[in-house]
Amino acid sequence: MPGEFDLIRHHFTTPTPHTMLGVGDDCALMACTPGQALAVSTDMLVAGRHFILGTDPRRLGHKSAAVNLSDIAAMGATPRWVTLALALPQVDEAWVQAFSAGFRGLLAAHGVDWVGGDTTAGPLTISVTILGEVPPLQALRRTGAVPGDDVWVSGTLGDAALGLQCLLQEGPALTPEARQFCLDRLEAPTPRVALGQALRGLAHAAIDVSDGLLADLGHVLDASGVGATLDFERLPRSAAMRQREASPGADALMLAGGDDYELCFTAAPGSDSRIQQAAAQAGVAVTCIGTITAARERVLRDATGAPMSFAWQGFDHFRPD
Ligand code: ADP
Ligand code: MG
Repeated sequence: MPGEFDLIRHHFTTPTPHTMLGVGDDCALMACTPGQALAVSTDMLVAGRHFILGTDPRRLGHKSAAVNLSDIAAMGATPRWVTLALALPQVDEAWVQAFSAGFRGLLAAHGVDWVGGDTTAGPLTISVTILGEVPPLQALRRTGAVPGDDVWVSGTLGDAALGLQCLLQEGPALTPEARQFCLDRLEAPTPRVALGQALRGLAHAAIDVSDGLLADLGHVLDASGVGATLDFERLPRSAAMRQREASPGADALMLAGGDDYELCFTAAPGSDSRIQQAAAQAGVAVTCIGTITAARERVLRDATGAPMSFAWQGFDHFRPD
């Protein structure tokens, strides 16, 4: 059975063309671009909590990179380097190889170097730290939303939550194509890295939707000291979601479903055409779904303009159910 150092050598050591010194020493060494701020983020994925044990390892590797790239995207930063800390219950080399291929593949697609990490025995846990670069004054913070801003979201909402329902065999069945689409959204999400960078100097505030639209937008509203009015009818829906739209609970999937990794951002009214142009360049659709208000109220309106009642809180690991 391969040991720790065999695993590192065979599966975790990859070319690092943008790095002075990669895997193999006590530290990696990277040269930062002068004038740029380092954007650093860590995310942990724990088996049984963030993913189902038995999840396809290649897709799990992809997702481990994607959730971190999504944080970099939400900051408007350019991803540059990652480290991976991995606890493995046992050495299953086929699993490690597939995981590494999925992780490496998405990173390579974004020009990110895998520069180090740590490997230990323990309950399956994946912790990734990503480092990016951003001109400090152009970083998309949560604090920048101002009254009158439009609220935008990329892609479509609730698909990953619908995918989880498919896995757990809850709710009415979808067509096979729709089911596969939702499983892909759940297990192999697409981080909106190009969109985040294209929104530099254009968006006032941004966040990635990992815990559900209302919860994540709520963090922006709290940080900015503002409120928002959203129109439920304007929320972007995939073809798969349209199959489920009429059944009970579909609204919760779109408003509170996690794991979509879309970007939610605010921008000055009248910047529509520049935003649409940025989105087109980045290859993703964006939709205006509401407005930022000075009153610190959170209002969700139905098709008739009447307020809908819906809890704005998202998932919290430490809140009792
Ligand atoms: P140390 O004991 O000095 O912390 P380690 O023995 O943990 O070093 O790691 C040796 C080298 O292998 C380091 O360069 C480290 O970054 C790298 N490494 C260990 N685990 C991983 C991993 N999961 N992914 C990438 N690099 C790793
Ligand atoms: Mg170590």
